[in-house]
Amino acid sequence: MKQIMRFALMVFTVWMPAVVAAQNPEVVRVKNAVELEKTAPKPVWKPDSTSEFEVGTQIRAWTIKDEGMENILDNMQSMAAINNLYMVVVMHQEHRPFQAPEFPHNPVRDSWNAEDSRVTFFPDMKRYGKIKPLLSDHKWIRDTDWLQLMVDSARARGLQTGAEVSHFPIPKGLIGKNPDWQMKKIDGESWSGSRFCANNPDAREYLIALFGDLAANYDLDYIQTCQYFFNDKDIDEGGTCFCKHCIAEAKKTGFDLAAAIPVLKKNKNAQPQRNNWLALRRNSTTKLYRLISEKIKAENPKCHLRLNDVFAWGGGDAIDYGVDIKALSPYLGSLVNQDHQEQRGRKNETFAMRKKWLATNRKFIGPDMHFVSGIAPRMHASPQLVKAGIKVALEHPAKVNGLALKHYDGASFSLLRAFKQGMIDAGVQGLIPVIGKEVEEMKLDNYAPFQEELVEEWGVETNATGTAAYTFDEPSGAYDIRITYFDADDGRARVTLLIAGEKKAAFTLDEDTDCWRWRIFKNIRVNNGDQIKLVGNANKNERAKLDYIEFIPAKPPNPQ
Ligand SMILES: [Zn+2]
Repeated sequence: MKQIMRFALMVFTVWMPAVVAAQNPEVVRVKNAVELEKTAPKPVWKPDSTSEFEVGTQIRAWTIKDEGMENILDNMQSMAAINNLYMVVVMHQEHRPFQAPEFPHNPVRDSWNAEDSRVTFFPDMKRYGKIKPLLSDHKWIRDTDWLQLMVDSARARGLQTGAEVSHFPIPKGLIGKNPDWQMKKIDGESWSGSRFCANNPDAREYLIALFGDLAANYDLDYIQTCQYFFNDKDIDEGGTCFCKHCIAEAKKTGFDLAAAIPVLKKNKNAQPQRNNWLALRRNSTTKLYRLISEKIKAENPKCHLRLNDVFAWGGGDAIDYGVDIKALSPYLGSLVNQDHQEQRGRKNETFAMRKKWLATNRKFIGPDMHFVSGIAPRMHASPQLVKAGIKVALEHPAKVNGLALKHYDGASFSLLRAFKQGMIDAGVQGLIPVIGKEVEEMKLDNYAPFQEELVEEWGVETNATGTAAYTFDEPSGAYDIRITYFDADDGRARVTLLIAGEKKAAFTLDEDTDCWRWRIFKNIRVNNGDQIKLVGNANKNERAKLDYIEFIPAKPPNPQ
């Protein structure tokens, strides 16, 4: 009972108007909350931008080049029910896929080393001051406006669109050469050669121009960012920032930072100097977010600023980095939580961090702001973890307005499907379940489930001839049949599909893409009770690996 009360009160605190709370006793509160819970409508999903429930994911230039925009959208929409897509247009240096060796479904390359904060759109250079965006060193990246390409393709399918500016919007290489831009410790030394100060006028001008450029020149619903402008160190451990631009900014608010520096050097806990310095960091961050938000609105009133709270991921607290989410919430149109608990692959995951940060941030942004929970179907995640994580997010009293799949480039087909099924299981309305069967769940003969070192997909393999079979228990009808398999670069294995003993499709794994692929065979009649049988013939080192068979109604009664 105690637990129910606490849960009910949490719901109540978040959702009931304050005026009711003031005039009613505890009993009434609980009753209201329980009633609310009973009658709370389940989120309703639609396939496009009219959906009140957001299902987003992201893309980068090289994935588009390799997989093709239409193929990507087909995968995202059919497997994961995506209705919202954004591009990371300023990506910091990083191995992709993040903390995993290989892309699961990229037919061209195993991995990609993202460059040092190069842009993948066509910047309007006259908008910028001293700092200008840097285009890619790769001709094939800088010759295409990847953001425009994504926006056009996504809008053609009615999706919402966004762009992301990462937490390293200025190339580290540039900052390294300009000590004036760098954050300074209390001794005046640079803290890092790759991090700029939010109060530096050049950096500020650049950031505002960057967001303004994107808002003005692209049809975007939001621009997302995860910037924290200060570090989380204590004053005597290299805490930032004490640069001359921070001193100038402090002066505007009546805080003499120059005079506070010698005091804090002697005693980092001296008051009011310490608190004034902490407030300066918070206020400087809020101010820059406000300026960015106002610029976006001025350029495109339909576009808003979205904060991606990345601190939840490591268990950190945004405020320790000077990011006061409550204070900057008036300048945000939406918020994403990025705790990514699934990717750790922990047994008995409780998602305690997700629950904590959903509650915390909902309190900061208030009950009405659009709030999205990030889900991570990648790295060590399993289908079970993805579904469990979605359930936790959707049942949380913080009442999220959507989910973000992070990230498509590292998410296997199985995890993309688990993402959609997880939403269905958690009661999201309007989604059409995938009809199909995991091959590893079929009756296997000379086919065995495999385990990669870092599992990127679940399926079966054979080194000779293997069969996998089961009985079709869905309605009879005409289906487009999709078979998902791994095409290794060493061998020419064959796959044959038989339905009720009759050969319906056969193909050779001859693309040698060294990744997961699928083929669709159109308009095949399948009857309830038919035996579905897949036969794989290994060839050389190619082990005829299979993942899934899917049945897409050839003429769906309820097209998505
Ligand atoms: Zn500074």
